[in-house]
Amino acid sequence: MPDNLRLAELINDFINTDNGNRLPDGHRIFEEALVGFADASDPVFEVFLQDDIIGPFYCLPKSWLASAASVVVYFLPFCMDVRRSNYGGPPTSVEWLHARFLGESFNEKLRHYLVAILEKEGGQTLAPLLNSNYNTDYMVLSSNWSERHAAYAAGLGFFGLHRGLITAKGVAGRFGSVITSLPFKATPRSPGSHFQNCPFLVDGSCGACIERCPVGAITKAGKNKSKCHHYMFIYDNAKEMRKAFGYEHSVCGKCQIDVPCEDIIP
Ligand code: SF4
Ligand code: SF4
Repeated sequence: MPDNLRLAELINDFINTDNGNRLPDGHRIFEEALVGFADASDPVFEVFLQDDIIGPFYCLPKSWLASAASVVVYFLPFCMDVRRSNYGGPPTSVEWLHARFLGESFNEKLRHYLVAILEKEGGQTLAPLLNSNYNTDYMVLSSNWSERHAAYAAGLGFFGLHRGLITAKGVAGRFGSVITSLPFKATPRSPGSHFQNCPFLVDGSCGACIERCPVGAITKAGKNKSKCHHYMFIYDNAKEMRKAFGYEHSVCGKCQIDVPCEDIIP
């Protein structure tokens, strides 16, 4: 069985060599990943069941996989060219749009790859986002598995005012996760506030993401998920462009870039 370090190496070898990690113009989408591990029995997963976090709709690791011992989570940071393309105000850049959808297709491939590696080692393994039971409640705009929250549990970062997870490589990127019966050593989480990487939530400084949002979905009180969802899914802010490429909805991401937490912990 690979240890934590070897599994992270395998993930990064895949990121560095697979041709899915490319934009149509050949530029790379993601840099190397951060990889973290959570104990599937960590009580923090039960905290996510609270109404003000995710809610009772959330499924624990052992609800997905009864034999679960570990949750493996990774953060895929967008490359600098992708991030910089989307600086400034609307519209969303074409590179960011491709990176969102082609990047997620690559992410799916990576989840499949990870499931295959861990199953070959004899572990029962499941990726919730590839599973038919994965579901989103559009009334509350929450899903029964959150890779962002799994990343928090796996010690990869802490939440910001924009409710993204601020990792050592910032917030602009995508997460992936698998649940496995193989026992990996859990990555320690720093003690203290789960907002400790966001200066605004520590001492009131920063607040840059408030100004970045074109529809006022982020305020000093946090993020209004409905406003954000409306902008991308109902108002369909990048409608012509995303239709031209056959993508199913618009994207934005302005609050993740051109801000102090874009690619580092501020
Ligand atoms: S931009 Fe500033 S206030 Fe907003 S989440 Fe990042 S660090 Fe926090
Ligand atoms: S993704 Fe766009 S609309 Fe949503 S909160 Fe961020 S900046 Fe605002």
